[in-house]
Amino acid sequence: MNRSIEDYLEGSTKTVPFKYRRAVRHLQEVSPWSAGISEELTMHLLTTKFGNTVCPQHGERDKSGTLCDPNVTEESPYQVTGTPYERVVFNGKKGIPSVTKGERNGVLDCGCMEEDVFLDFFWWKMGSLKSPSSGVREGWKSQRLDHRARAFMVREWKFRTGLEVADIFRHNYHPLEANVIRLTTQINNLRRSLDKAEMKWKEEQKLSKRLY
Ligand SMILES: [Zn+2]
Repeated sequence: MNRSIEDYLEGSTKTVPFKYRRAVRHLQEVSPWSAGISEELTMHLLTTKFGNTVCPQHGERDKSGTLCDPNVTEESPYQVTGTPYERVVFNGKKGIPSVTKGERNGVLDCGCMEEDVFLDFFWWKMGSLKSPSSGVREGWKSQRLDHRARAFMVREWKFRTGLEVADIFRHNYHPLEANVIRLTTQINNLRRSLDKAEMKWKEEQKLSKRLY
């Protein structure tokens, strides 16, 4: 499994075999490192046999992909579903999707935002929890964030870390060097946010003094 992904990264093969891509998508413990390499590899791993890019949640739990923002009704519990666009997947039999693939920038064929799916895939593959009572450590296993919870968490992560989703990928860097680059980016971005917040706070203090 690892070898076929490495061959793909080295350019000695153009595709990771379909059954391996499917295993990486649906079995958390299979090649977890592969989720943090590049946007291009993650997109390839999320590509189905028919060439559709589909998030694992849609692939496992909502194959028909009916729940999305354009399909909500007034009775729907939420108007923002975490899947902002309609599904345009092609199954090889039922004709051509209504939207031509590639027209929707930053959106997978299942209708989900690329950045939500990439970061969630990274979390799911790499994350683990350790019980403070039993000492048992385990990953997400078969548990998934639903689409809406995923969208909330991605936005919160971006705000708190000062990073963009693209910053999780290490590309060709050594993992330790990639960590240094990511932390430097994070500190610089947070420093800029701190400078802005301090400036705003000083302005606010000046204004409130003028009131007295
Ligand atoms: Zn999706």
